[in-house]
This record gives sequence, structure tokens and C-alpha cells, in this order.
Amino acid sequence: MAKRERSFVDKLRKQTMDFYSHCPVCGEPLKPVKVISSEKSPRTGAWRFNTSIVMVCKCNHDEVFGG
Ligand SMILES: [Zn+2]
Repeated sequence: MAKRERSFVDKLRKQTMDFYSHCPVCGEPLKPVKVISSEKSPRTGAWRFNTSIVMVCKCNHDEVFGG
């Protein structure tokens, strides 16, 4: 059904794993985490949701997951 999307995710995952498999700072394996942030538009008052992939390790774990 969502074949194209899935292959895109696989490709993205492979790329990120190849390039960011380990954090150069703490040496921990980096995990791609999908982060959804919401922001309210000051003009329309409507909520917008942004999805981004963040590579998480010890260094930014607390930051990403809010402690
Ligand atoms: Zn790190």
C-alpha cells in the first residue's frame, strides 16, 4: 500500500545508519527518533505539526525527551 513511502524510509534509515552510526562525542550508538513538534500559528491560531528525524544519543537524549 505505502510501498514508496516505506522504501524511502528504508533508504533514509540506511543512509543515517551509515553516516551517523555512532556519536563522535560519547561513542554511543545513535538512534533516529521521529520527533513531532507542534506550534500554534500566530496569524490563524491553527496548530501545525512538524515531524523531524533526530539522531539521539546520550548527549541530547534528555533534551529530546524532555529529561
Ligand atoms: Zn553523544
